Amino acid sequence: MNTNLNGYDLVIKDGWVIDPSQSLNRPLDIAIREGKIAAIGDKLPLYEAKQTISAANYLVCPGFIDLHTHVYEWVTISGLNADDVGINSGVTTVVDQGSSGRFTFPGFKSDIVDIAKTDVRSFLLLNEGANGPLDITGSGFENPEKVDIEALVELAAQHPQTLRGFKVFADSGSISRWDMGVMELARKVSNRTGLPLYVHTGELFPVVEVNRPQPQTLVETVVSYMKAGDTVGHCYSCQSDGVMGSRTQVPQWLRAAIERGILLDLGHGLKFSFDIAQRMIEQGVLPHTISSDVHGNFVVVHDDSHLGYSLCGAISKLMALGLDLTTAIASVTINPARVLKAEAEIGTLKIGSRADITIVELVEGDWLFSDSLGQKVIAKQRLVPVWVVRSGELIQPHRRLLRDLQHNTFPVVSV
Ligand SMILES: [Zn+2]
Repeated sequence: MNTNLNGYDLVIKDGWVIDPSQSLNRPLDIAIREGKIAAIGDKLPLYEAKQTISAANYLVCPGFIDLHTHVYEWVTISGLNADDVGINSGVTTVVDQGSSGRFTFPGFKSDIVDIAKTDVRSFLLLNEGANGPLDITGSGFENPEKVDIEALVELAAQHPQTLRGFKVFADSGSISRWDMGVMELARKVSNRTGLPLYVHTGELFPVVEVNRPQPQTLVETVVSYMKAGDTVGHCYSCQSDGVMGSRTQVPQWLRAAIERGILLDLGHGLKFSFDIAQRMIEQGVLPHTISSDVHGNFVVVHDDSHLGYSLCGAISKLMALGLDLTTAIASVTINPARVLKAEAEIGTLKIGSRADITIVELVEGDWLFSDSLGQKVIAKQRLVPVWVVRSGELIQPHRRLLRDLQHNTFPVVSV
């Protein structure tokens, strides 16, 4: 118990604070006590602090939240280390999208969530296919016969802090096998638990060609099963069965879906297209959340050497394509916090919230980024994490996975 009301554990001075949850965008000092934000202001009154750092020349933001990652390390073939993806990439909360399912979630909880320094949450894979290592060449992920709704409802009730939603694949491969059975079950589970869906779009699993769904109408049909608060993943993907496909104009059904509360997520991954992003941004369709979809190699166990994108890199690319800084910061702080229904706790620097903070340098200078199709864009600025604060603890990220921000000519490898 700290009885000295003006005694803080950590003070971050002179940083430029951007906190869209409170419309803050100016220089402010932040004080932390017992893992929580204790004060924020222009000039803090006289105080004592165990540790003070100067963040002059840096941006101080609520801890970044990456809504789409894969961190079931050593169990799924493409699982990365949660702290490499999290605190060591400038991210205080990561959400694992579907690397664990009904049978493997308890292991995910004990071996990853309970051990990582990063705050790890989960969108559980809808079916039991996540039992074994992720097999990208196989199928069965979304077999409606392998979904046990009662078991999922029970699991969600047991783990309300970690289990925040359900992941479902609505790619051409799954739909060609099980039609909309996939989405029907996802809807039922979501309705029963009150937890949102995260829906993968874009071809992923092998397609049964005779049943290939119409690429131009696939996402439109999928969205009809979604409710306000559900998220469409990979909104700027280059795939023909993706959100935009080969269209040049944003379709009316997508605008109507956004209007009724369906959310778009970047889910960078291997299919992000600058062209499509630019086209959609110009027409006013922005991602509600920016996420990385970082994952390891799908073929070689525990190999991340191909990884040439990151959350901070994704933000920098979208800024180069026209997104303004404050909107971008909202997309990795308060917006994903609301998807997780955790906005009282994270995604904000409000007094009393958890002291999870990301401190970044906005590095000026031309920087070359490439997309999955080899298209290039020159960014004038890029966001490089300098420190994170996690539950009040100051940490210097090692940034091992931030190759896209540290090596200008990182080769684009298609997998
Ligand atoms: Zn993914």
